[in-house]
Amino acid sequence: MADQVPLLDLRRQYEPLRQEILDAIARVCDRQRFILGAEVEALERELAEYLGVRHAVAVSSGTDALLVALTALGVGPGDEVVTTAFSFFATASTVARLGARPVFVDIDPVTFNIDPDALDAAITPRTKAIVPVHLFGLSADMDLIADSARRASVPIVEDAAQAIGATFKGRALGTLGAFGCFSFYPTKNLGAFGDAGLVVTGDDGRRDMLRSLRQHGMTAPYVHDSIGGNFRMDEIQAAVLRVKLPHLDGWSEARRRNAARYRSLFDAGGVADALVLPSEVPERRHIFNQFVVRTPRRDDLRAHLAARGVGSEIYYPRPLHLQPCFASLGHRQGDFPHAERAAAEVLALPVYPELTAHEQERVAGAIAEFVRTSVAASR
Ligand SMILES: *Cc1c(COP(=O)(O)O)cnc(C)c1O
Repeated sequence: MADQVPLLDLRRQYEPLRQEILDAIARVCDRQRFILGAEVEALERELAEYLGVRHAVAVSSGTDALLVALTALGVGPGDEVVTTAFSFFATASTVARLGARPVFVDIDPVTFNIDPDALDAAITPRTKAIVPVHLFGLSADMDLIADSARRASVPIVEDAAQAIGATFKGRALGTLGAFGCFSFYPTKNLGAFGDAGLVVTGDDGRRDMLRSLRQHGMTAPYVHDSIGGNFRMDEIQAAVLRVKLPHLDGWSEARRRNAARYRSLFDAGGVADALVLPSEVPERRHIFNQFVVRTPRRDDLRAHLAARGVGSEIYYPRPLHLQPCFASLGHRQGDFPHAERAAAEVLALPVYPELTAHEQERVAGAIAEFVRTSVAASR
């Protein structure tokens, strides 16, 4: 079909940067230094400055960022880590991989983020960390989460994988807890050409620990104080990310503009009542890694859009507490009703920066048609 509107089209971002990116990759090839060299060091400086945090440590993926941060806090067998029931799998799998127990909390259905009012009840003397996720690019309620964390003397590890450049009361997400974890998976707002991630911290000792853990727990040549792993970011990925970073704020602005444009198109198309649109919360700058709407007729809407060449995706169709691999935690359907309902109703629409007004009109038109025909059908 000629005029498909894909959920994401990375080529449109790549094309204007193509020569610059190829030159950056060539620089690495010419140097023949592939691991922990000048590109990674420069990227760490640039990202720390961008985020306004003391230290940034580049790692191999967002998953490994979480794993390294939780390891640095000493999370292990017998410990509990409190987190949301509605997120990407890695938020909870990293806890379980360390032998600890993920303790899930339901979400606030307005923001899709961890319900801060349910936090205190989930914290026990075994709680080693709280991992809020800033899902889809919107901050969790960091004031109330910080209050709970302080009362219990438990550190916060922010899963900011989807939220680079988003803020809470003017401060960059990822810089509000003991550690902030980011992903540069290609579909994230700052995407590498493969896997890459980042951990940030304001503490010098924690920075040293992260650097050691990403390199097999090494503290001096071939002396291993702890058991880390190979969690290093490649020079080539760092070189690509350095070309992209100066554009990140512009891309986030474009995503916000597209989100605003959807709102007015949906208003004009009379579908605003049939769909729940993503919330914007005062003092939380949303960077729309995803523009997620909800409707009880989600699967029908998705099929309708697909038939008209409009891409969409379900993030995420199954909440974490109902994943087969966590069956031993003993959860059942009904334990976290808001997370379960979100999993049944959410749909992500195209919102990437290069999306054109015309394409958004097509998406909105297709949705308006769906709403009209389904209202007519139910009469
Ligand atoms: C993408 C993502 C991760 C994992 O990042 P990878 O780079 O894919 O390993 C973790 N948490 C959340 C919320 C994510 O969206």
